[in-house]
Amino acid sequence: MKLDIVEDLEQDSVPDEEPGRDVFTCWVCTSPGLDSSEFYAEMRYCGQEHRELHHPPDHEEPWPFSVREKDSVGRYLVAARDIDKGELIFTEKAIASGPNHTLVENHCLNCLKKMENNYRCSKCAWPVCDEECEIGENHSIECATLAEHKDEIDVELLLEKSVLYWPISALRILLLSKSNPGTWSIIQRMMSHSDEQKNKLAWSQYKVHLVDFIRKTCGLGETFTEAEVEHASGVIDVNSIRLATHGHGVYGMTSIMSHSCLSNTKTIMNEDGSVDVRAVLEIKRGQEITKSYVSSMETTQIRQKRLSSGWYFMCQCIRCLDPLECLSFASALACLKCKEGLILSSDPLDPEAPWYCGDCGERREAGAITKLNNYFLDAIIEATDDCMGLDHLLEKATKMFHPNHYIPTLTRIKLNTAFLKLSARNPNQAETEILMRRKEFLDDIHQYIEAVEPGLTQRRGLSLFERGVCHLQLGRELFDKKKFGKEDFRELLKNVIENLEDCLECLEHFSCGTQLEDVNFKAGAARDDAELWLEQLEHLQELEAVEHQEN
Ligand SMILES: [Zn+2]
Ligand SMILES: [Zn+2]
Ligand SMILES: [Zn+2]
Ligand SMILES: [Zn+2]
Ligand SMILES: [Zn+2]
Repeated sequence: MKLDIVEDLEQDSVPDEEPGRDVFTCWVCTSPGLDSSEFYAEMRYCGQEHRELHHPPDHEEPWPFSVREKDSVGRYLVAARDIDKGELIFTEKAIASGPNHTLVENHCLNCLKKMENNYRCSKCAWPVCDEECEIGENHSIECATLAEHKDEIDVELLLEKSVLYWPISALRILLLSKSNPGTWSIIQRMMSHSDEQKNKLAWSQYKVHLVDFIRKTCGLGETFTEAEVEHASGVIDVNSIRLATHGHGVYGMTSIMSHSCLSNTKTIMNEDGSVDVRAVLEIKRGQEITKSYVSSMETTQIRQKRLSSGWYFMCQCIRCLDPLECLSFASALACLKCKEGLILSSDPLDPEAPWYCGDCGERREAGAITKLNNYFLDAIIEATDDCMGLDHLLEKATKMFHPNHYIPTLTRIKLNTAFLKLSARNPNQAETEILMRRKEFLDDIHQYIEAVEPGLTQRRGLSLFERGVCHLQLGRELFDKKKFGKEDFRELLKNVIENLEDCLECLEHFSCGTQLEDVNFKAGAARDDAELWLEQLEHLQELEAVEHQEN
């Protein structure tokens, strides 16, 4: 397959990288940077409080990052020294957290759990679980303000209209800022894209139920201008991270991390609502520390669309600039005309740019490519859990797309789940066949994940687990049925053990409230199982060798 067109394109489309510059204000807020770090001279602080965020008093060293700035992205983090794979880069508590806007039924304002009853706070009449949650840390922030304006707020009507939870997070940020100017200064420094927000369709509703609610109903109009409330709301929209329970939180350091579709960190949510950011790859001094705001599984065109509608920018990372997406082939199509070449976008950063075959020059319009992708995405959803339907789709998809394209990959992911469910419904039926099919899918999926989410990522850990366990089961089946020699089985066991060790390293730190806790435990058990089998097998081989000698 010739890829001349790709090389030509890369040469003229890589934009000149904008050099970053030092930040002369405080690293985290809008105040002047009066003081600097003894460790990393480029880090400036407005005072003790914001120094301690970067250099906790009980730590010998500050967190290993410094902050730089570019016009195109604002502030971003860079490694202040070499950072090891797996190393903790920083941990932080939320500045504020609150319920998701989308909540429609009774959810407790304090713990965000879905409520079984219709309990209401005795002071403000808003939904909380019980007396304990009434005086909880989170709800206490707004309870007095809401109670003061109790007569003007019809909680039940707002709940019915599904807008009750809209103002809470912004209200919390503003109330916390009122009592602590340092917090407000951090919030003011964050990106909010409030102008873009105001162009959104739902804005008129937000104006009523969020901005006016806070300024007029809650009487904060004298303290915060309309622009300030809009900014707080925008900060939440652009910077918040999803919590384990129906809520989101705004985090100061995390929000400074810039985006890359091949990011070098993972964000781990802890039980107490704090987050840990860890390196998934080695990060060299001076290198940008990045986080992926969107799923790395999808094609450049889908990621770019999500990034521009949610964060209002075009990603220019190496994966986005490369029509082959770092050899993942996530968006490459097969050329049906010459049956040899790949059809690739002539400019991945331009959603309208035409696509061409690198071999025969066949041209396809961007709109037609999007249509084709959407057709398959709809069909995959339609065929959920239908092994035959999905199989048929996979066969079609591997002809139209590069076999590693996102669409066939997604089909394999769904097929793996569908086959798992099938064998759970019919235990002991066609077990080996199903395992063989699943092994095929999982190997292909894993190859894709290695390209798009390398390093100690949680997704890669999960994939190593599923693949390792499937290999182990299949190996045992084949060995039991004498279809697999001892030597082959031994090789397989060694590979599985290695894969599961790798998996355990990826999942050593995982977000609470996810399936990963369970997977982590099961991966350890599967590794122990494989080790036991290997031991027994080796023992058996020794015995046989002795027998052989004796004869
Ligand atoms: Zn500061
Ligand atoms: Zn509660
Ligand atoms: Zn209350
Ligand atoms: Zn990108
Ligand atoms: Zn062609």
